Amino acid sequence: MGLEEKIPSGVLLTSVEKLVNWTRKSSLWPATFGLACCAIEMMASGAGRYDLARFGMEVFRASPRQADLMIVAGRVSQKMAPVLRQIYDQMPEPRWVLAMGVCASSGGMFNNYAIVQGVDHVVPVDMYLPGCPPRPEMLMDAILKLHHKIQHEPLGPKRARQLAEARADGTAP
Ligand code: SF4
Repeated sequence: MGLEEKIPSGVLLTSVEKLVNWTRKSSLWPATFGLACCAIEMMASGAGRYDLARFGMEVFRASPRQADLMIVAGRVSQKMAPVLRQIYDQMPEPRWVLAMGVCASSGGMFNNYAIVQGVDHVVPVDMYLPGCPPRPEMLMDAILKLHHKIQHEPLGPKRARQLAEARADGTAP
């Protein structure tokens, strides 16, 4: 009897998927990128007291080409939006975006012409974190929830899946 007949269908692919996702979630490297007051809490999360390094995230990369997580920490001005999009475009796939704080998630109290009313108008967001500012414990909680999401993602081009989901929801641009 061949190996394929002994192993239930899909077992090998599922195992590879689990292994790949485990390696991805265990070594997320955030882009060095802060926009406003929330960035102070993000920096505190990386320091010794909270120690993001416990989750394989000790390296904040100065080059987007070496990063796979964008933490949008702070309000996004209209002028900054194209720059943020350019940084996102320079990050290799698969990549994830975490909107940190109410300003990044929805514009927050800055309901005016100068501020983008949610960074999801500029880049697709994987995780929203409320708070003003969210404490480092909250950021770590959001990162662990993102780990859980990554662990259960199917393999394949991520952006294509997001577009297909958005089209199904009727929310595609
Ligand atoms: Fe600053 Fe609060 Fe906005 Fe964060 S959510 S950028 S702390 S005003």
